[in-house]
Amino acid sequence: MQTFRYSQAQTVEGAVRAAGSAGGAFIAGGTTLVDLMKLNVLQPRSVVDINALPLDRVESLPGGGLRIGAMVRNSDLAWNQTVRQQYVVLSEALLSGASPQLRNMATTGGNLLQKTRCYYFRDTNYVCNKRQPGSGCAAQDGFNRIHAVLGGSEHCVATHPSDMAVAMMALEATVHTQGPKGERAIALDEFYLVPGSTPDRENVLQPGELITHVTLPALASGTRSRYLKLRDRAQYEFALASSAVVVSVSGGRIQRARVAFGGVGTKPWRSREAEKALEGQDASSENFRRAADAAMADAKPLKYNAFKIELAKRALVRTLTETTQVA
Ligand code: SF4
Repeated sequence: MQTFRYSQAQTVEGAVRAAGSAGGAFIAGGTTLVDLMKLNVLQPRSVVDINALPLDRVESLPGGGLRIGAMVRNSDLAWNQTVRQQYVVLSEALLSGASPQLRNMATTGGNLLQKTRCYYFRDTNYVCNKRQPGSGCAAQDGFNRIHAVLGGSEHCVATHPSDMAVAMMALEATVHTQGPKGERAIALDEFYLVPGSTPDRENVLQPGELITHVTLPALASGTRSRYLKLRDRAQYEFALASSAVVVSVSGGRIQRARVAFGGVGTKPWRSREAEKALEGQDASSENFRRAADAAMADAKPLKYNAFKIELAKRALVRTLTETTQVA
């Protein structure tokens, strides 16, 4: 019989050492891992508790920007004064996620690593390439209303569920890690992988590699940001489509735009197509719609989720309208 090992780490180095062996997992808030272990979807051989690690601070960086420890709870980050004032999109995204109780437990590092809400992934009665590579994808011919229209493959079309990661994508965050081979800084845009033929690999983390913190760059004065989440009910629900926008406007013209979507992609989806369509243009509803069309030009609907394409477009147009309105 396979033995299960639980340990508590007091240092980052100790945590990395303990989880470095194959089949090891870190546990922080436990809001994803414990659920999936109960469902027999995830069965790590060892779990390393990282709640004692000194990674729970939000600090301003000397040259501007913010450093967010991986153990900072979602609630604490959402209500942090600097985040509320300077990174509005991040606070709004965090407060739109889950419930107050879950946000009190969930951590910054864990939120980035949330597992998909694809029903077939969470139900071991169905085939799922993400859970069991090579077994098939029940969503392709199943009820795929909540699945992705961007970034999917014949092997997987599951969406990434995080709201926080979508905001961080628009903020051009960097993920910092420590692993058996040392420290790394990874642009969030390069952190996630599309499923391709290996949907079980969701990001570039190596075994035993721990997210230690996330950094956000300073935003130029006058930059505005916003997160809009559209879903089946107003609380405690995942996005069908969401939009994160970070934009600066001068003289009615968009100087700089960063755009990301949630609920429609197999990873938090940055849209360089929308950004290109917006920058240098007037902040007008026609240009917003043109950017939304560009963002969804490559979208591929499944049987039940074609509505997401128009929903995502409208989410972006509304987010841009609200963000660029002169107070
Ligand atoms: Fe599994 Fe991905 Fe298919 Fe869902 S969409 S059943 S997670 S392979």
